[in-house]
Amino acid sequence: MTDCIFCKIVNGELPSETVYNSPNVTAFRDINPAAPVHILIVPNRHIDHIRDPRAFEDDVLKEMFQVANQVAEMEGIAESGYRLLFNYGPDANLVVPHLHLHLLGGRPLGPMVARR
Ligand code: 5GP
Ligand code: ZN
Repeated sequence: MTDCIFCKIVNGELPSETVYNSPNVTAFRDINPAAPVHILIVPNRHIDHIRDPRAFEDDVLKEMFQVANQVAEMEGIAESGYRLLFNYGPDANLVVPHLHLHLLGGRPLGPMVARR
């Protein structure tokens, strides 16, 4: 996808602090971190979001979760714990339309969803 910022990060057209790279998956630090560790794990191939059927082809989701666990080890938060999440749609504030798994940790993260 020519206009996708995460495609551009994957192919090096846009800078990022990449922490992991394989032929299928890239992990890089979120530009506006919500926690001391906030890393985005993305498929190198463009997939729109978690409802895109391409997300369920091959082992892309499996590999993204495996990379998330591996990056959590590398970041030293495997013992303290972490949260993995996908956003989808307006109520969840999906902003970037390239599938990405958020890895959050490095402090107690509080309730999963703000109560109001
Ligand atoms: P979403 O709300 O779509 O699930 O999350 C998108 C995430 O991408 C946000 O946490 C935002 O801070 C991050 N982000 C947006 N643009 C960039 C960018 O150009 N570089 C990096 N590293 N992160 C970005
Ligand atoms: Zn893309």
